[in-house]
Order: sequence, then C-alpha cells, then structure tokens
Amino acid sequence: MTAPLTPEVLVPRLGEHLVQTGQITDEDLHRALAFQKEKQSQGQRYLLGEALIVLNLLTRRQIDHAVTEQIIQLRNALEDANRFLEERVKERTSELQEALRKLSELSQMKANFVANISHELRTPLTHVKGYLELLSTGTLGPLSDDQSNALQVSQKAAGRLESLIDNLILFSLAARGEMTLRLTPVNLDKVAQEIINYSLPKAQDRKVSLVYENKSDIPLVQADEEKISWAILQLIDNAIKFTPSGGKVSLSLEKESDKLVAVIVADTGIGIPADRLVEVFEPFHQLDASSTRRYGGTGLGLALVKEIVSAHGSMVEVKSEEGKGSAFSFPLLAALKGSKNDREW
Ligand code: ADP
Repeated sequence: MTAPLTPEVLVPRLGEHLVQTGQITDEDLHRALAFQKEKQSQGQRYLLGEALIVLNLLTRRQIDHAVTEQIIQLRNALEDANRFLEERVKERTSELQEALRKLSELSQMKANFVANISHELRTPLTHVKGYLELLSTGTLGPLSDDQSNALQVSQKAAGRLESLIDNLILFSLAARGEMTLRLTPVNLDKVAQEIINYSLPKAQDRKVSLVYENKSDIPLVQADEEKISWAILQLIDNAIKFTPSGGKVSLSLEKESDKLVAVIVADTGIGIPADRLVEVFEPFHQLDASSTRRYGGTGLGLALVKEIVSAHGSMVEVKSEEGKGSAFSFPLLAALKGSKNDREW
C-alpha cells in the first residue's frame, strides 16, 4: 500500500533542512531516524516529522512551517528550471528554423542553378544539332562515306546530350515543385506499342527480347501522355540496359479494377539488392558507382520516374531479386467517362 500524500512525503530532505536551519541538532536527527527504524521493525510506519513530534523535539506547527518553506523553495526551483528549459527550447527552435531556412535556400539555389545551366546548354546544342542536320542532308555539300558515318555518330551523341539536358530541366522543375501535368484521357495501349516499336532496335542490338503483353481491354487513363510515356520509356531503357544478352524485357498493362490500370516493366536482368531498393529512386544514385562503370547513365532516370508517377497521385513499386531480375510497376487512374477532356470516348 502506498503512503498517504502528505507535504512531508513531497519533501524528501526535510531532516537535512531542519539541521541546516538550526531547528534541530545532528543528534536529534539521528535519534528520530533511529526511532523511525525501530518502529518500522515493529511494522509501524512513522514519517520523520511525526518521529520528531513524538520525541518532543519539534511541534506540529514547526514541522508544518518547515515543510511549507521547503515546498516553496522546491516550487521556485521548479519554476526556474521550467523557465530555463523554455528558453533553451526557444533558442533551439530558432536555430533549427534558421538551419531549415538556409537549407531550403540552398536547395532552391541548386535547383535554379541546374535550371539555368540546362537552358544555357540547350541553346548552343540547338545550333550544333541544326548544323549537323544541314551537313547530313547534304545541304552544305556532298559527303564521303566516312564523313557520313562520323556525322551519324555525332548526331547520336548530340541526341543523347539533348535528352540529358531535358532530364536535368525536368528534374529542376520537379525539385522546385513546378512540374505541371497536362491531364487528358490517354490510350496506354497505343503508347505502349509506340514505346516497344521505338525500343526494339536497342533491345535487338543488345540481344535482349522485348515483348508487349496486354491481356485485357485497357480503359483510357487520366494522365499526362508525354510525361507518362517518358517514364515508361525510361523503365524500358533501364530494363534493357541492366539485362544481359539472351534475357527478356516485358511491358505489360493490367486492368486491376474498373478504376485502375497497372503498368509493369519486368526484366530478367542483374536485379537490385533488397537493401538498396529505396536508394535507386534517389537522384544521382547508381548502384555501380565505380570509375569503371559498365552501364552509362546519370542516375536521374528513376528519380524522375518517381516524381512523374507521384505527380499523377500514384506510386512506383519495385520487386527485385539479385541475379534474377526486377519488376517496376505503378497504377494509373482510369479516365472518367464523359470527363471534360475526354474526346476519345
Ligand atoms: P541510370 O540508369 O541513369 O544510372 P536510374 O535512376 O535510372 O539511373 O537508375 C539508378 C540505378 O538503379 C541504376 O544505376 C542501377 O544501378 C539501378 N537500376 C535501375 N533500373 C534497374 C534494373 N531494371 N535492373 C537493375 N538495376 C537497375
């Protein structure tokens, strides 16, 4: 059973206080403590104040007075501690707010820098591409076979550079929360076929089979066609890139319900270790970060796929097993029949 809550219980160092203030002597205190102990061995519980009263060393009034004095002291100490704590919390909060402000300023600067530099890079590249085009069409004079081949390589490289710059621009827009979507009802079946046709040569080059699997009637989905196509293409590109020759990459559309269509890109490639599945969606993260990297790329692809898919209110899911392959999927919402932008129903 717990002792009743008396002021004395709240003041654990009463004896010390009484000696220090000269109300009792050290000896008196020892007598009272010995009395307490003795009574306790007989099964009786005496508080120190009660012991002092019974031994006629102090009156009830004196004890009450001493206890009240101590409670007031304790309360003052508690108030001081609270004030100190409140001030520390205030200081810490403002330090954290300042750090947060600096951090978001930095991240804004980074996004602005990426946006500016990307636009600056695009202008000269447009000229380079324009002149390469003029050269390759023979507008500026006839070309030898070697010159023609060299031009083709240059055009391919310029194309890669352009898509890299486009990715950087998209990334900086997403980082600034400025990625906008133009939602319309999209025919995913058509999009998928176009992506497969576009990617077939690349897959054939790498001796990877590329198939499109569409088991059911797929309803139109509400999406930004250009961005969703880009995201699916990026997943297919990765799947081809990370699948050794003889492997298989598939793009499937599955009607999950009347309202949802799942896009699934699966491969039989190198796979991703379970503890790194989250990391691959971080910007600039690549699993093979060695200087002798076997696969090209910037590490921006999946980060952008994630941004695009979440801008559609959805989420990319990844399942993977090392050495066996990976599957990336995300659901999209079916377009409402009769919706404003719905021209194809
Ligand atoms: P990039 O392909 O330009 O390196 P991504 O952001 O598209 O950048 O991918 C990040 C990393 O995730 C890749 O470098 C690779 O390590 C891993 N990865 C992505 N897709 C696959 C895949 N299908 N199979 C195995 N690893 C993959």
